[in-house]
Amino acid sequence: MIEFNRVHKTYQDGTEAVKDISFCVQKGEFVTLIGPSGCGKTTTIKMVNRLMEPTSGDIYIKGENITAFPVDQLRWNIGYVLQEIALFPHMTIEENIAVVPELKKWKRQKIRKRTADLLEMVGLDPATYKKKLPRELSGGQQQRIGVIRALAGDPDIILMDEPFSALDPISRQQLQADIQALQQEVKKTILFVTHDIKEALALGDRVCLMNDGEIVQLDTPENLARYP
Ligand code: ADP
Ligand code: ADP
Repeated sequence: MIEFNRVHKTYQDGTEAVKDISFCVQKGEFVTLIGPSGCGKTTTIKMVNRLMEPTSGDIYIKGENITAFPVDQLRWNIGYVLQEIALFPHMTIEENIAVVPELKKWKRQKIRKRTADLLEMVGLDPATYKKKLPRELSGGQQQRIGVIRALAGDPDIILMDEPFSALDPISRQQLQADIQALQQEVKKTILFVTHDIKEALALGDRVCLMNDGEIVQLDTPENLARYP
């Protein structure tokens, strides 16, 4: 579903953030990207939705070079969840969730149903929450909205960059469970950045271990545990 072919990223200041990496993520697979701060995880996932351009190398989605798609269209089909909660503060929860479905010109009825289903999926009663503003929700609830907003337009791929890092341990556990349940249900292709090894092993079908811009290992949690 996602293929990196010898992708390299050097920033303008000369930092070699990603060094000639090649790997594939299969359809429906959940891959966690793990490694120390500064090893190139964020740079790697930002190149998938073209928030960053590789210096060299190519990225393919379903066999097509991502540079072949208009950027807007590419991003509508890739959900993105950030570390910092990035809901639109002046829009209600319902409006926040509907951004991509509206860009895709879904029918009002379909958007309303989708919003209600997603809120229920993460344990938030639609009648209570849909008209609220982000600031009226707790940090954990806002982060949950961030996750379901990324799913709202039914993207094939979801990129998550340390989506739980701002949360307390209880909300974190809750959201981990939510994500696992979602994955069972919707089978999206997910690339998930974390620096928490337990999280990487618990969530990933495979774990991609990065260090200093390179992929050190890419394997199932079982195999990584067997050969430490
Ligand atoms: P690009 O080559 O992708 O255009 P730039 O080097 O122009 O990236 O930097 C983009 C932004 O990132 C700038 O606003 C810059 O201030 C910021 N930036 C620069 N160095 C770092 C760094 N080491 N870590 C994080 N952000 C940085
Ligand atoms: P991670 O997500 O693993 O913490 P990043 O991909 O954010 O790593 O960063 C990889 C390397 O690139 C780091 O050395 C970081 O300081 C540097 N870097 C990140 N963004 C920029 C930027 N915009 N300009 C220059 N250097 C950057």
